[in-house]
Amino acid sequence: MARMYYDADANLDLLADKTVAIIGYGSQGHAHALNLKDSGIKVVVGLYPGSKSRQKAEEAGLKVLSVAEAASAADWIMILLPDEVQKTIYKEEIEPNLRDGKVLSFAHGFNIHFGQIVPPETVDVVMVAPKGPGHLVRRTYEQGEGVPCLFAVYQDASGQARDRAMAYAKGIGGTRAGILETTFREETETDLFGEQVVLCGGLSALIKSGFQTLVEAGYQPELAYFECLHEVKLIVDLIVEGGLAKMRDSISNTAEYGDLTRGPRIVTDETRAEMKQILAEIQSGQFAREFVLENQSGKPGFTAMRRQEAEHSIEEVGKDLRAMFSWLKEG
Ligand code: NDP
Ligand code: MG
Ligand code: MG
Repeated sequence: MARMYYDADANLDLLADKTVAIIGYGSQGHAHALNLKDSGIKVVVGLYPGSKSRQKAEEAGLKVLSVAEAASAADWIMILLPDEVQKTIYKEEIEPNLRDGKVLSFAHGFNIHFGQIVPPETVDVVMVAPKGPGHLVRRTYEQGEGVPCLFAVYQDASGQARDRAMAYAKGIGGTRAGILETTFREETETDLFGEQVVLCGGLSALIKSGFQTLVEAGYQPELAYFECLHEVKLIVDLIVEGGLAKMRDSISNTAEYGDLTRGPRIVTDETRAEMKQILAEIQSGQFAREFVLENQSGKPGFTAMRRQEAEHSIEEVGKDLRAMFSWLKEG
């Protein structure tokens, strides 16, 4: 089994006299900044003028600078901007401030692996990628726990890059849950595959198709919503806690028999061939090229697809239903 590393394996002292610049204060940015600060590390936040997040960061007691100022002031620069804007901001504001011996780091390997950002050889380049959304990275830390992380070294100028990456992972709480070593290539390709095929793309297409099938057959949309969307979480929680076996223990024998006999008819040889094709497009850089060009041209397709999806009837039914359920409200 792959080795997991925990608190005792990482040395936070490697960050003791360092200033860490967190560039971006969104989902991951706020969690990294606050967790590192609570771990006793000196943190500054780099944001663009007029950033909506500035007030939040300042209210949390963090020092906010421009991206260039933060990159200049810091020994360690963690880029937590949306992947599609990283290249431009890196070129304009970070690269000119990357003095020898600094650490440049990421929470996803896209820009390094696909050659969008090419750092000088004189800096360490590492990745610490929490395997969970930023809000969970923060919440679990506050509860004394953490979210498992992947870590990787792309470039080791100091001879300490690996230990440093592990120290950073400890600072954000990752080693409380366990961290796993990988490469920029492996993290990038598996992350893109997971989100496209299973977690985001596959799951939302499955939910929508199931919903659509029931509604078109004349069943009430509210019922279709409960069966095909709402109950997903209950099932997934069981799977995460105890694997497929725990889920199958908990559902009825009727449901289990349906699972075993009908599930394989939903994910067919054709679907598996498409999964391989999607993986090949990730590996060849075809997906990356498409995403980069889409963003360079001002996101025309992305914008249209977002609008179409927002207008899907499952979203309308869901909005009305969720509004009625106080137990679903955040807080
Ligand atoms: P978000 O979209 O949540 O964060 C965006 C932040 O960047 C905001 O503070 C935003 O400012 C700022 N920003 C946006 N555009 C610019 C710009 N042009 N110049 C300066 N700042 C800008 O990003 P995520 O946290 O989702 O992603 C960050 C990285 O972490 C990515 O590499 C992603 O792949 C990776 N990652 C994300 C995970 C997640 O759960 N979201 C999980 C694991 C890795 P403003 O608030 O003003 O808009
Ligand atoms: Mg991702
Ligand atoms: Mg049922």
